[in-house]
Amino acid sequence: MKAMVLNELCGLEENQAPLELTELPDPIPSANEILIRVSACGVCHTELDEIEGRTHPPRLPIVLGHQVVGRIEATGSEANTFRIGDRVGIAWIFSVCGTCKFCLAGNENLCPDFKAAGRDANGGYAQYMKVAEGFAYHIPHFFNDSEAAPLLCAGAIGYRSLRLSGLKDGQNLCLTGFGASCHLVLKMVKHQYPNTKVFVFARSVKEREFSGKLGAVWSGDIEEDSPEKLDCIIDTTPAWLSVIESLKNLEPGGRLVINAIGKEEADKESLLGLDYPVHLWLEKEIKSVANICRKDVSEFLALAAEMRIKPEIQEFALEDANEALVELKTRRIRGAKVLKID
Ligand SMILES: [Zn+2]
Ligand SMILES: [Zn+2]
Repeated sequence: MKAMVLNELCGLEENQAPLELTELPDPIPSANEILIRVSACGVCHTELDEIEGRTHPPRLPIVLGHQVVGRIEATGSEANTFRIGDRVGIAWIFSVCGTCKFCLAGNENLCPDFKAAGRDANGGYAQYMKVAEGFAYHIPHFFNDSEAAPLLCAGAIGYRSLRLSGLKDGQNLCLTGFGASCHLVLKMVKHQYPNTKVFVFARSVKEREFSGKLGAVWSGDIEEDSPEKLDCIIDTTPAWLSVIESLKNLEPGGRLVINAIGKEEADKESLLGLDYPVHLWLEKEIKSVANICRKDVSEFLALAAEMRIKPEIQEFALEDANEALVELKTRRIRGAKVLKID
């Protein structure tokens, strides 16, 4: 099969073609696994974190990609949930132990043996991928393959972030950074919290304009003050400055949720600007979002179909994965990038 393979970690600024088009043997599903012929795979900011080493794969080479849509080509001898030809999705959660205290309590996202698709096991930047059948999801008919792909990560993690923010209808929500996950969060908020006002902080003028079109009441640059205090903030940027700057706009008792797998080192010094009375006092909280549970994925897919939300997408050929990653890195973001795979 054709695959775009990561052979060594590197900075995308020095190497704009970190993935290499490679011919690999087709994967063979074991007893409880299914083999999927991939038709679409979303391109996620986490791939940049993998390539640049902020969440590095334990072994190389590896095939990246964890927002995978395709059709079942073969099933293992004990895999009987799906049939050949069924359309399924695969998300970041590739496998967990199923027996630890986190798994048993329903927090499988925190399992110490959590394995991620496209990091700990080969992912969807390829013509085929295999996964245990319990970690695949039916895709609602409402979406075509490319539309469904970004829902599997950006959408599901956005759903989880919104849940962890504790937002109640009528409270002010702020989105810091406005990539693929946030534009889906904004659509969810419009549906589930109709009296909530959404404020957006983003560096890019284009992202700010886009947020206005989707219904944000205000948008501004990271250092600006929001016109009203904020009850909940979801930060999806790779930077630290946005954390410090947004905390000053948080209401007493408000919560900042950081939805990022890692933060870049470049502006870490901005943390020294932390002023306890301004940024943290009065019971302000900071919480991170880690991974996703299968429940987040399946609940979000159902919600997205019910809301009839379709993500804005931009398609690339599998061979152009490097170009998509560079565009993502340089913030030329308009909606979600998806590899369309033959
Ligand atoms: Zn992702
Ligand atoms: Zn576990």
